[in-house]
Amino acid sequence: MRTLHHFHGGVHPAEHKLESSERPSARAPLPQRLILPLQQHIGAKAKAVVQAGDKVLKGQLLASADGMLSAAIHAPTSGTVLSVDLHAVPHPSGLPDLCIIIEPDGEDRWIDHAAFDYRALPKAELLTRLRDGGIVGLGGATFPTHVKLNINPTQRVQTLVLNGAECEPWITTDDRLMRERAAEIVQGIEILRHLVEPAETLIGIEDNKPQAIAAMQQACANTGIEVVAVPTLYPTGGEKQLIKILTGKEVPSGGRPLAIGVACSNVATAYSVHRLVNHGETMISRLVTVTGNVQTPQNFEVLIGTPLAELTKLAGVLPGTDGYILGGPMMGLHVDNGSLPVVKSTNCIIAKSAQLFPPQPVAMPCIRCTRCAEACPADLQPQDLYWFAKAKNFGKAQEYNLFDCIECGACSYVCPSHIPLVQYYRFAKSEIWAREKEKAAADAARERHEFRLLRSEREKREKAEKLAQKERAAAEAAKQAAQPASETAPTATTSPADATQALIQAAINRAKEQAAANKPKNTEQLTPQQQAEIAEIEARRAKIREVAHADVERPKE
Ligand code: SF4
Ligand code: SF4
Repeated sequence: MRTLHHFHGGVHPAEHKLESSERPSARAPLPQRLILPLQQHIGAKAKAVVQAGDKVLKGQLLASADGMLSAAIHAPTSGTVLSVDLHAVPHPSGLPDLCIIIEPDGEDRWIDHAAFDYRALPKAELLTRLRDGGIVGLGGATFPTHVKLNINPTQRVQTLVLNGAECEPWITTDDRLMRERAAEIVQGIEILRHLVEPAETLIGIEDNKPQAIAAMQQACANTGIEVVAVPTLYPTGGEKQLIKILTGKEVPSGGRPLAIGVACSNVATAYSVHRLVNHGETMISRLVTVTGNVQTPQNFEVLIGTPLAELTKLAGVLPGTDGYILGGPMMGLHVDNGSLPVVKSTNCIIAKSAQLFPPQPVAMPCIRCTRCAEACPADLQPQDLYWFAKAKNFGKAQEYNLFDCIECGACSYVCPSHIPLVQYYRFAKSEIWAREKEKAAADAARERHEFRLLRSEREKREKAEKLAQKERAAAEAAKQAAQPASETAPTATTSPADATQALIQAAINRAKEQAAANKPKNTEQLTPQQQAEIAEIEARRAKIREVAHADVERPKE
């Protein structure tokens, strides 16, 4: 029997799981439009490789991974690309982002695809295939799986943890997936084990999911994979918290689980890895819980890009619905636009109503009761972080480990003053990131400016050196030219005009010497006519020399 450990804090909100967990999952029909944001993962936005008017097949690449920390995006069905344009996306900023919009043709025709033997591939090639297959973590963070499982050859993974805790209220996708597709999840886990070669593999599942635990135990028989039921306590599904419960190890502040010899992945991610490797199917759909103020809460297998409103319609939206929560009520994003698409991180859509989610009472001043600190699973001091964030004292907030906050909302949940604490932490984090970005941009601009100055100075210096070289060469030439006729040789103090004069005189002298050398030694051997012709030529040359002299000596106008 494995010894379980405890993390600090935690809360017990009402579960609301049974509403959707007891119906089998169903496949959602093809929607009218599919909206696929290029940013569906942590890291660089994918790069579109299609354009408006292109016909695409199901599973075809629409946008390729841009660099190492990125993941590809594929067509969830066959159809036509209507546009690559800005569209509303599920993001806390509320800003639109680039999306590929597809009109399905109704045929749902696959591109050629096939399974492959992962054991025959080098691990680097297998990781690249995960990236190009669009595989990202489906536990909520959407961290690209090929980066998460890229183990340094010097690192040793002691434990591979599969997260099936699913601790947020209302969400039941992992529960249903484990009940219905346990064998396929285990096949995916085998691929992950091949990649990271752990000494042990554990699947952590909260004990409020007995059927999922039983299904996984059955599928894991004789595999060496251990299924561990963990106490139901929010947020057990947090990566650091589940690792602590199962192994007793603490992920260091600001560090990754690999630092303590642990690799972690979600059970739904393992299932997607199985679909890619054993069926050649890229990540184009996922299970989504549709619950809340609807007639038949249920899990649906949904194509990525399906608009929210089409899904809630399937479950039968009830009167009084006033918006949606994407994710669970503790950490989810509140939106009211039904045209927002399901993305890879969308595990749950809750139709909100005032009855299910009454408006929060007005926030009151902090009474320093420290209940938030008792509930915090990251062992932080939420009340201090709140003061620092409110006072915009971001340096101090960082000093108090703001970035260890997993935004679980446990502190806000217990706060008797109803202070929306997590909103303050999100604000502080975004301000710090924005300032860091600004600083990085300013540093880059300063470096560019300094480089420009250096380059301009270097060019000036090179020009001056070239000029000096030319002058030295001219002086040297003048000196050499003057040597045969020493009377015209320029001195060290010769002016440029005198030097030119000396050069001309030297050339004349050289011509004379050459003429003399060419002249027949004995003119008396020439005929009188030849002697007359030579005399005439000499006279003409003398005349030319006189004119040349006059030109040189004439002052310039
Ligand atoms: S729980 Fe609320 S009131 Fe109490 S210390 Fe924390 S922030 Fe202040
Ligand atoms: S939201 Fe952050 S500060 Fe609040 S309980 Fe969770 S981890 Fe702690």
